[in-house]
Amino acid sequence: MSTLTLENVELYYNRVHALRNLSIEVREGEIVSLLGNNGAGKTSTLSLISGLEKAKSGTVRWGDLDLTKQRPWDIVGAGLLHIPEGRRVFSTMTVHENLLLGGYLVKDQKLIQERADYAYELMPRLAERRDQQGGTLSGGEQQMLALGRALVGGPKLLLLDEPSMGLAPLIVKQVMDIIREVNQQGTTILLVEQNARAALKIADRAYVLESGRVTMEGPASELAADPRVIEAYLGA
Ligand code: ATP
Repeated sequence: MSTLTLENVELYYNRVHALRNLSIEVREGEIVSLLGNNGAGKTSTLSLISGLEKAKSGTVRWGDLDLTKQRPWDIVGAGLLHIPEGRRVFSTMTVHENLLLGGYLVKDQKLIQERADYAYELMPRLAERRDQQGGTLSGGEQQMLALGRALVGGPKLLLLDEPSMGLAPLIVKQVMDIIREVNQQGTTILLVEQNARAALKIADRAYVLESGRVTMEGPASELAADPRVIEAYLGA
């Protein structure tokens, strides 16, 4: 069982103290959401896990593996895949070429094909647009493509940064349903969202970050009913 554990993490960008005594845990099989406003430290947390930033102190572990000692590509190799905000689809490559790129660390071509087939089955819109250039897809379709590309890599843990960003409510729901399905197929998910309403619907547990600190944590259903969360993050 691999649990992701961050303990007492301090992260600075020069004089900006971005994460303060941050401790979070994501257990195998869970969907855990990190909520918070702009600048709360959500993206920094994901960057730290995927080895793109280094903590000043504290621990970041995936099971027995000390992630602070791993290089970013080794962390990908361990099955921790990060889909950054903005999706970063390759705009002049086709949907299918984008998908196959997700298998760059996978040697078994048959496995890559099977996983691409699964992505098409899960997201038929991608199958319909298989030969279309990535840059011509809608925002929701690009988010699906980014998810599909990650699936071809065979993720154990997916780090998702604001998948709902810029999407219409109906599309947000579709993307969240896909994330839930991916989780049910066995991938653990750490979901960063400003859209607390959407995230709390699919998450098992959540943490609220404010100015780099965890200020609230608990089962998603409890947080969704907490008056402080309702007032600050769910609106009227
Ligand atoms: P958003 O939703 O706006 O992306 P966030 O919760 O993801 O917000 P972070 O991007 O992690 O927040 O930023 C946390 C803090 O660290 C902010 O004060 C931000 O200005 C600062 N910060 C983030 N990246 C850098 C950087 N590369 N250099 C300097 N400061 C940074």
